[in-house]
Amino acid sequence: MGLTEYKRKRRFGVTPEPAGGAARPRRKKALAYVIQKHRASRLHYDFRLEWNGVLLSWAVPKGPSLDPSVKRLAMQTEDHPLEYAEFEGIIPAGEYGGGTVMIWDRGTWTPESPDVDAALRKGELKLTLHGEKLSGSWVLVRTRSYPGAGGAGRPTWLLIKHRDDAATGEDIADTAPRSVVSKRLLAEIAFQEGGDVAKAASGDPEAALRKLIRDPAAVTAQKRRRKPSVWKSSRARS
Ligand code: MN
Repeated sequence: MGLTEYKRKRRFGVTPEPAGGAARPRRKKALAYVIQKHRASRLHYDFRLEWNGVLLSWAVPKGPSLDPSVKRLAMQTEDHPLEYAEFEGIIPAGEYGGGTVMIWDRGTWTPESPDVDAALRKGELKLTLHGEKLSGSWVLVRTRSYPGAGGAGRPTWLLIKHRDDAATGEDIADTAPRSVVSKRLLAEIAFQEGGDVAKAASGDPEAALRKLIRDPAAVTAQKRRRKPSVWKSSRARS
């Protein structure tokens, strides 16, 4: 797909998201994997896999499930630049995807399908995740493509956990709601970075929020010299 659509949808003078250069060839051996929890107009989890120099992306409204009997809807979205995996912060209201973004999980992935491009064309990609929250064997299965006219023109996939040692009935979206990078909840990211706290909080589990309200001193400390999550491009913009 490339990054044309990604760039067309965003105003990089306004949003702190990375502008991205061209799709980059692989420089390291391991392929990046990231899930960004995103409280936009609706809460969803953006599941991203590095492939061919970009992040292939799917929006998973309910987030991943560790239960192999649960199939989670995953709507394919535009490819994102590799730098996007580092982005946690606020997309300004009114911009595309406006809301709070959290790095919910990250790590690397390994294809189980021998030919990834063929698997993507066929609509069945088997993979192993090596994340901080998610691991083991998974599959993405394409269900159908929307007819172009009127629809979003987006292929619909299902994200399913395979049966293995990492499969459980645990609701990981509920039990592990914090950023793997900053350990913050969505509400804390919004509060510390000038986002819409109430809207962000509506994406956090109630139990975690209640704990914070009972003991506001427990708010995750903002590191004094933390790198700003606003991503600044050093590249000239096209
Ligand atoms: Mn999103």
